[in-house]
Amino acid sequence: MQYLANDDPEVARIIQGEEARMENTLDLIAAENHAPRSIFEAQGSIFSTKAAEGYPGRRFHAGCRYADELERLAIHRAEKLFGAGHANLQPHSGVSANLAVYFSVLAAGDRILAMKLSHGGHLSHGDPASVTSQCFYFRHYGLDLQTERIDYEAVRAMAEAFKPRMIIAGASSYPRLIDYPLMADIAQSVSAYLLVDMAHIAGLVAAGVVPSPVPHADFVTFTTYKTLKGGRGGVILCKRAHAAKISKTIFPGAQGTPSLNLLAAKAVCLKLAMGSGFKQEQRKILANAAAFAAGFENKGYRIVSGGTDNHLVLVDLRAKGLTGDVAEKTLEAVGIVVNRNVIPGDPEKPDVASGIRIGSPGVTARGMGEVEVAQIVALMDSAMINRGKGDVLDSVSREVADLCRRFPIYRD
Ligand SMILES: *Cc1c(COP(=O)(O)O)cnc(C)c1O
Repeated sequence: MQYLANDDPEVARIIQGEEARMENTLDLIAAENHAPRSIFEAQGSIFSTKAAEGYPGRRFHAGCRYADELERLAIHRAEKLFGAGHANLQPHSGVSANLAVYFSVLAAGDRILAMKLSHGGHLSHGDPASVTSQCFYFRHYGLDLQTERIDYEAVRAMAEAFKPRMIIAGASSYPRLIDYPLMADIAQSVSAYLLVDMAHIAGLVAAGVVPSPVPHADFVTFTTYKTLKGGRGGVILCKRAHAAKISKTIFPGAQGTPSLNLLAAKAVCLKLAMGSGFKQEQRKILANAAAFAAGFENKGYRIVSGGTDNHLVLVDLRAKGLTGDVAEKTLEAVGIVVNRNVIPGDPEKPDVASGIRIGSPGVTARGMGEVEVAQIVALMDSAMINRGKGDVLDSVSREVADLCRRFPIYRD
């Protein structure tokens, strides 16, 4: 970072601090991953300053020869990797992608049925705190509190009574697979569009280790920085019939010039996701998540829904007399980064929460396997149970630091 260190030593120092923090902590945030350095080279490239309103061959700025080549390549890769009729890679984020889908085929005030935030959904699916709730009329389905899985019959009954124009499937903290053919059947039976927001699991879908929503949904949105292991940014896939409406809603409807540097990074992560190494790593993400669930269960914690089918595990801490916020702070102090999370039917408020959400992508990217996961579970349990005991916490911190040294994120 020689130019940055020269122009702005203060920001350079902060970035170096963040790099060291990441190297020296275990990242168990389910929404995060460690992208390869090629992603950062693409994101930090000269494309950062190119204006290119419009689409390849139809730009409102001159000088777009390479911008067009780049965007065409990215679109081609996304359509091929996911078997989609059409892809738009311009959304700045996952939330922007969702907003564009809503506005592409719905009018303000139209009805949308989506999963409740407190049961695993996402803010942008019509939570009262999100602007989406001011633009559209949302109702929310939840989980069956016995099985902690989606209650599809309840979804069907709500759809029949509410008559939404769109149904959203997809979540941020749901450890189970979603039955896309069944959701598509429910949507069709009430003439609603089906949007699947696969932000968290796009990498698992790309690798074919979990079922793909693409054949069943009108629209699929995702972000590239979670399991897909790229940089930040959103993508929309849709049936060809919806392509023109999606294009128009993103530009000129909701965005100006696309971030071509981020688009370049999206193209890179899509290429890497086509390789055999990626598929293997996504399989390991599943195995490591299962190992986290089994490990915590063996230590007497309750696992929401009894296990996991994807990259994340929701741990109910109540049996241990702990809340999510205390666990999060205790673990961060020993170098393990997780986030507190409400569990279905949680009596605590979201900023306290009764659970933690654990994701396996970060440690899997470092090359760790089930042996290391078992060790991490033991360290987490020890830290949480012995919170306040300085000597135990010091020894846990040392073991965490040792694991980080043995499994570096970046070897150069
Ligand atoms: C992370 C996430 C998003 C938001 O993506 P951003 O890029 O942060 O805007 C949207 N939907 C779901 C289900 C997510 O998990």
